[in-house]
Amino acid sequence: MSFKELPIMRDKSKGVLLFYPYVSKKSAGNIKKKLAGRWLGQGPAVDKFENDFKKKFAKNHSVIATGSGTDSLHLAYILAGLKKGDEVITTVFTCTATNIPLLYMGIKIKFADIDKDTMNISIKSIKKLITKKTKAIVCVHYGGLPCEMDDLKKIAKKNKLILIEDAAHAIGAKYKGKPIGNISDFTTFSFQAIKHFTTGDGGILTIKNKKLEDKAKRIRWFGIDRKGKQKGTWKNDVHEIGYKYQMTDIAATMGSDSLKEFNYIINHRKKIYKTYLKELSKNKKIKCIHDFDKKKSHGAWLFTINVSNKDFVQRKLREHNIETNQVHFRNDKYSIFRKFVRGKKFPNMDYLENRYLVLPLHHKVTVSDAKHISSLVNKYVK
Ligand SMILES: *Cc1c(COP(=O)(O)O)cnc(C)c1O
Repeated sequence: MSFKELPIMRDKSKGVLLFYPYVSKKSAGNIKKKLAGRWLGQGPAVDKFENDFKKKFAKNHSVIATGSGTDSLHLAYILAGLKKGDEVITTVFTCTATNIPLLYMGIKIKFADIDKDTMNISIKSIKKLITKKTKAIVCVHYGGLPCEMDDLKKIAKKNKLILIEDAAHAIGAKYKGKPIGNISDFTTFSFQAIKHFTTGDGGILTIKNKKLEDKAKRIRWFGIDRKGKQKGTWKNDVHEIGYKYQMTDIAATMGSDSLKEFNYIINHRKKIYKTYLKELSKNKKIKCIHDFDKKKSHGAWLFTINVSNKDFVQRKLREHNIETNQVHFRNDKYSIFRKFVRGKKFPNMDYLENRYLVLPLHHKVTVSDAKHISSLVNKYVK
């Protein structure tokens, strides 16, 4: 099967959309079968999806499927043992979903600045923020580009901190040949509509310490030991507060279908990514948010440029029916985080704030689309 053989559902509007949900063409039929059966909520398809995911991305870790990337993050923070008043270092530039669950728990957020070239969390900035109260570091592989994992692991080890990766952008990315998901204490993934593939909504949490697997599964389901309950051996008590964070069998069916096609999904995305990189990186007026470091294999979720006239480029592209956006915004500007940012400075974020722009990258973007878009960017950048 080549990518061209997958169904093309060109939208009626001419042009190139920024995102488009990826759903396997097998899923409609498989969900129809599912709907005629017994298990719609969390059942055998969830177990299967967890196994499929584990084989591909997290051979040595426990894999827990959830209702969303945000559920996975909140679960990770609970399992990391974070308590009210603890300090957690996290990136200032990410989807708010990375940091909102820290607010659920009364955590003191310490925002780190980003690296100017990669937009990933700055190692230098992290080092300045560590105190006796720091318990964890949260990093985000922006756009699919792995963070400096060796440095992060070293800092975490030295200061006895838990390392949590928000890998919502980075399924399929690798660091030193290891898949993201199989590296640090906790890693979270998302299958929300615009990610590499979607399960409607859904997420995965991978956990290094296998002793936490049972607890993770209980907290995913009200605090109840579902297996024990089904076997009739359940002690009929709930001793920890749980949530309703499970994945459904309907979502998991979509997940397993897309995982089978994942190599096609990522190879296509990489092809588009490389086309942009080739066409744009030779232009001195454009900085591509990229890292040529051979240790890192990019997950190709976003292609981001840094230009001095972002608004103009965006407007001109729109005139050509090409959709672009900034997608994520600096978190320190949101009122909910205000109490953590008074007097704080983020010089690299300040510099990039009005310069970065994300170009269309998904399974419906063709190489000739990417070349056309690149030529327009090259034409309008100043
Ligand atoms: C999409 C995303 C999330 C949230 O995932 P949901 O499945 O929508 O809850 C978290 N972090 C980042 C960086 C994301 O891009």
